Amino acid sequence: MSATPPLLRIDGLGIDLPLDGEPRPIVHRADVVIPEGAAVALVGESGSGKSLTARAVLGLLPAGARLHGDVAFAGESVAGMAPERLRRFRAGEVAMVFQDPRAHINPARSVGDFLIEGLTLTRGVRAADAVRKVTGILREVGIADAERRMRQRPHELSGGLLQRVMIAAALAAEPRLLLADEPTTALDVTTQEEVMAIIAEAREARGLALLFITHDLELAAAVCDRIVVMYAGSTVEELPAGHLRERAAHPYTRALLSSRPSVFEAGADLRSIPGRPLSGFEVPDGCAFSDRCPRVRDRCRSERPAPSAAGDSTAACHFPYTAPAEEAGCHA
Ligand code: SF4
Repeated sequence: MSATPPLLRIDGLGIDLPLDGEPRPIVHRADVVIPEGAAVALVGESGSGKSLTARAVLGLLPAGARLHGDVAFAGESVAGMAPERLRRFRAGEVAMVFQDPRAHINPARSVGDFLIEGLTLTRGVRAADAVRKVTGILREVGIADAERRMRQRPHELSGGLLQRVMIAAALAAEPRLLLADEPTTALDVTTQEEVMAIIAEAREARGLALLFITHDLELAAAVCDRIVVMYAGSTVEELPAGHLRERAAHPYTRALLSSRPSVFEAGADLRSIPGRPLSGFEVPDGCAFSDRCPRVRDRCRSERPAPSAAGDSTAACHFPYTAPAEEAGCHA
């Protein structure tokens, strides 16, 4: 009997985009697996390719993009979906919450029109049922005066309230997978915590799977089951969130942990990673992290490391850490 495929499998994904008329690799190799109902974080610095990888899940890549590898949803290749199947997939099985909600809502229409049309036009729900449904979901995401908010225009809502509206729109579609691309980056710290709590509660109540795109490793570990770290267009480490601080093996993951003070350690150092992050198209022949890595050796500069499994983790590194993080001098 064949095993049930995971809800999402990103398998050896590569994405080339046209730059100066030439296809250039932006994503070299991304591997992510999300079982039904699980939460996985894709963590990396700006330009690492994490948002492009998330867009590939929706089949929403820029014109001229070339894809290698595969993205499969419940065993079905997204690239192989016919247009009508792709429309249904985006309307009902996967939903996305973006960093900047104002860029994804019509400023001239009311919040209610935006939410209700999302159901009536794409899912064929009757208008009265759609009103009832979105009112309930707005309350679920912490908007008590839902009727008044639905009459307002987006500019009348704060960034935090508008992000709640976008989460409500995503939940109204009853997806199996929520993609959240830096959903709290533009918000103040208190609102960030509230928005992440709303996402966590909605996940739990609905058995929803989550792909959380973020640059914040500690936030990722707080809300997700597993962590996938991405650098310069490749996923370089994958491990359980609960083991992040003790068992991170890749020097880049350790550097990320050391580059911000722990929320648990008052007065901890804030050490930044030396050098600058590379974009996918700048990657040299060997390891993309070699110019910034404290463990670099000759082999790293000539041979690109392939992902290698150890226990329930995977790291793409020739010389991974094997000692617990504290012993190796990681201050995270
Ligand atoms: S392969 Fe070498 S340079 Fe790259 S992360 Fe590992 S030790 Fe550092």
